[in-house]
Amino acid sequence: MIYFDKVSKVYSPTSIALEDVSFTIAPNEFISIVGQSGAGKSTLLKLLLVEDWPTSGKVFFESNDVHAIPKEDLPLIRRRMGVVFQDYRLLPQKTAYENVAFALEAGGKEDDDIKHDVPQVLELVGLMDKAWHFPHELSGGEKQRVAIARAIVSRPDVVIADEPTGNLDPLNTLEIIRLLEKVNDLGTMVILATHDKEIINSLKRRVVTLEKGRLVRDEQRGRYVL
Ligand code: ADP
Repeated sequence: MIYFDKVSKVYSPTSIALEDVSFTIAPNEFISIVGQSGAGKSTLLKLLLVEDWPTSGKVFFESNDVHAIPKEDLPLIRRRMGVVFQDYRLLPQKTAYENVAFALEAGGKEDDDIKHDVPQVLELVGLMDKAWHFPHELSGGEKQRVAIARAIVSRPDVVIADEPTGNLDPLNTLEIIRLLEKVNDLGTMVILATHDKEIINSLKRRVVTLEKGRLVRDEQRGRYVL
């Protein structure tokens, strides 16, 4: 469960990124955060990832006020959130397999577990045949599938995808969204930030709309109506 409780983020008097935003996300939900550029989507995700601090209000991850967690414990909570970015952020000198394995190594997993888990997630994202390819040998859609494999391999409670299809053509976009739906069907919360109307209208899932930092709509089976 994630809970934004009256969250505001004011960078300066003329730059109010979020204003009094409250909403809850249930553990198995797939929720899209939509809004035009500058609406506050990235700020909202940064606050959840504890990469930034709210000016007022609180963000809860289960019963934890994430901004009250001691610095040394932050890696633990961050490990429960898998993140997918628009620009993939894969390590260029590592293969698809190694990129995914690296996430587990960083978390201190045993070698045997890594050898078991990595092929399993590469299979899930449909990339086992490209496991030994380097990022520059993969298409955009394939790179994003590796990034999703890396995000889910540690079995996080939530996958946070920030404009994951921003660099992809419509066909690859659809495949990535279907993959995120599959991740959600397997029991992981998905938070998708996007300004892609087509995606939202095809998803028919919950949509939270931000407009100039304010939450203006929160609809089950929502549509993008900006
Ligand atoms: P979105 O992700 O929806 O495009 P952002 O969360 O990036 O929106 O930005 C929301 C608002 O906050 C924008 O007006 C942006 O200019 C402002 N903003 C974001 N980050 C900063 C920052 N570090 N300093 C000042 N203003 C910022």
